[in-house]
Amino acid sequence: MAQQGILIVLSGPSGTGKGTICRELLRNYPNLHYSISATTRSPRLGETNGVNYWFTSKDDFQNMISRDELLEWAEVYGNYYGTPCRYVSELLDSGKDVVLEIDTQGAMQVKKKFPQGVFIYIVPPSMEELADRIHKRGTDSLESIKRRLSCASAEMNKINSYNYVVVNDEVPVAVSKIGAIIVAEKCNVSRSSELLKQICK
Ligand code: 5GP
Repeated sequence: MAQQGILIVLSGPSGTGKGTICRELLRNYPNLHYSISATTRSPRLGETNGVNYWFTSKDDFQNMISRDELLEWAEVYGNYYGTPCRYVSELLDSGKDVVLEIDTQGAMQVKKKFPQGVFIYIVPPSMEELADRIHKRGTDSLESIKRRLSCASAEMNKINSYNYVVVNDEVPVAVSKIGAIIVAEKCNVSRSSELLKQICK
């Protein structure tokens, strides 16, 4: 039986660079797979359905909730976001690692259902830097930027529920720290029972 994959949950205030970190992680770790979330938010310029998100209507999202198809879901900045569970559980069962890039409300739901997950919180080097990054990104309306910044401080109070905190000062450094966390977690005794059985037989 394959050792179950690791579920990695990445959260952090909007604009911390979680998306960039995720892309780099996926490029560097072939066993790592991205869970594509469903959202009722409209696509931003350059976003593609089935790549960045599954863009869905409110009705379809509601149906996914009632059919119990979501591992977690939350309302974030006025839109709904959720993780379809089937894809995640199939990957984990086949030994693949999965990364979820989700907000703190969703992360806490996952933690209840899946405490063996690895919960990593990404922080910006400073709140000034965060504001600067969101403005420079240029993808959000002024109203959305204000909302995202005012949520950031409240979000940061949830850090204690996570296992690790990584500062995203330079992307390659943050990515290599997360890589080190993945390697350490793979070697954790609690995840190695299959391996130990094989060695001792
Ligand atoms: P954005 O609109 O910038 O793509 O994402 C807004 C926020 O929603 C981010 O904090 C992102 O991590 C979070 N998010 C994206 N997908 C999900 C999801 O499936 N579930 C939850 N709970 N949050 C999500």
